Amino acid sequence: MPGGNDLRPVLRVYSHGMTTASFQALVRAVIDDSVANTWADAVLEWEVDGLEEDPRGLGMCVCGQPNLVQLFTIRNTRNGNVLFPIGSKCVHQFEVKELDQQVNVLSDLLRLRTAINDGKFVTLTSEYFTRALLEFLYDEGAFPPDQWNGGDGEVDVDFLLKMFNKRDKDAITPPQRRKIRALLMTKVFPFVQAYQRVR
Ligand SMILES: [Zn+2]
Repeated sequence: MPGGNDLRPVLRVYSHGMTTASFQALVRAVIDDSVANTWADAVLEWEVDGLEEDPRGLGMCVCGQPNLVQLFTIRNTRNGNVLFPIGSKCVHQFEVKELDQQVNVLSDLLRLRTAINDGKFVTLTSEYFTRALLEFLYDEGAFPPDQWNGGDGEVDVDFLLKMFNKRDKDAITPPQRRKIRALLMTKVFPFVQAYQRVR
């Protein structure tokens, strides 16, 4: 495109179906609230802080994109600034692996909570869980020490990960099934339902 004088707002499509105009609005919003003043440096200052769901889709992303259902909050680790709401597509534009993982794990947590609240029969399968989600739940304190895990919550999550990773689910014994059920009912589900960073 000679001269770069083409001012049409939509010039080309970015990854995740994003337009140039939206991407530029995103860049402006992020740089305005960052310490760094270049996009490449600014994206490194942020972490994903929370996720709210609005089934009515009334939210508008910081890039101007309307009809957001999943509204993420991101927080600048250098100056404490917060951007809200921002959609997952825009967070993916940062191209920072940790942010993508945080978006995914909070989305997974929300999906799990919805299933629990809808009364679905939630089991330890990839329909509701991922390895990353189990590890995240442990990191966030879902497995407090008690007499059954010998005072170490890591015992609980290690057990669940081991069961989750079993390719042959028929190899899980009845006592193991009961233990999985107990951990889900007494620790995972109440923790997920009360988890404040997802609303
Ligand atoms: Zn956006």
